[in-house]
Amino acid sequence: MVYSVAYNCANESGSGRSMDSFPQYKTRLRNWLRNMNREQWKPTCPSKLCGRHFEEWMFDNSSSVGYEKKIFILTEDAVPAKFNKLDDAEPK
Ligand SMILES: [Zn+2]
Repeated sequence: MVYSVAYNCANESGSGRSMDSFPQYKTRLRNWLRNMNREQWKPTCPSKLCGRHFEEWMFDNSSSVGYEKKIFILTEDAVPAKFNKLDDAEPK
């Protein structure tokens, strides 16, 4: 089972939200970790972050395949922004 690695987030894969792997590019990865307040932490291979930590505009929906099976793809400069306190509340 893959878990979202964010603090206070118990989301699991299969719960309906997309899970995203950590970026391969070092600079981008550093931005992610800084936002997560986890700069000392190194993501391991199965580490994922669920879609709830990203804003709507950070997803590139143009490449979605169908409506039912929507695949969420993060844009190039997407950086996770919703953590901790916000994590406990649904955005809507
Ligand atoms: Zn999460």
